[in-house]
Amino acid sequence: MSIHENIAAIEKQLQHTHCQLIAVTKTKPVEMLKEAYDAGCKQFGENRVQEMQEKQPLLPSDIQWHLIGHLQTNKVKYIAPFVALIHSVDSLKLLEEIDKQAAKNNRTINCLLQLFIAQEETKFGLSFEEAEELISSGSIESLKHTQIVGLMGMATFTEDQNQIRQEFRSLKQFFEKLKNTSLPANVRMQELSMGMSGDYEIAIEEGSTLIRVGSAIFGSR
Ligand SMILES: *Cc1c(COP(=O)(O)O)cnc(C)c1O
Repeated sequence: MSIHENIAAIEKQLQHTHCQLIAVTKTKPVEMLKEAYDAGCKQFGENRVQEMQEKQPLLPSDIQWHLIGHLQTNKVKYIAPFVALIHSVDSLKLLEEIDKQAAKNNRTINCLLQLFIAQEETKFGLSFEEAEELISSGSIESLKHTQIVGLMGMATFTEDQNQIRQEFRSLKQFFEKLKNTSLPANVRMQELSMGMSGDYEIAIEEGSTLIRVGSAIFGSR
């Protein structure tokens, strides 16, 4: 199947949901991104700062760029002028740097807190307790150029569909719990980024609003 057909098939599954597709374009050449753009895709996800920074000027300016991979504080400045949403925020230190760079660029940067939901050692992210502490610490409200608009999480890489579903469900429950508490003015629970090529169908069923799909569109890496 072509990139065009793959995107059309996923978009069809997203009809009548509140979920949007982010095409994950990491390692893929600009020609393939153009093909996805021509197929109607306007939201692209990259996991490395340098790669995103290189591709962004080569593509149409109405694309929304999502940083989905781990972000080091010293690299925030390279994407601050244009990034649409940073999915991988996991510390106050990083938020403070994002805020500083957003201010320099005279804009507000939207972020998601990345939560650790998998039974794996390798994934980044905050525990539920750490996220609650961060949100209630009083440190976020002073960040005038940063908005936290939701949460992101990655399920365990496993064949066990039930485990994946439980992990997504726990994130959704935490999302709803936060939604019903009093949050700082620049924190709102609007977006829930969960689901990749292998598990996006489960993620949609469990309430995802942003699926991040790479290999199911562009082929394996
Ligand atoms: C690579 C990546 C994806 C997409 O993975 P696929 O399995 O190719 O769909 C989604 N989210 C993150 C954080 C990634 O790094």
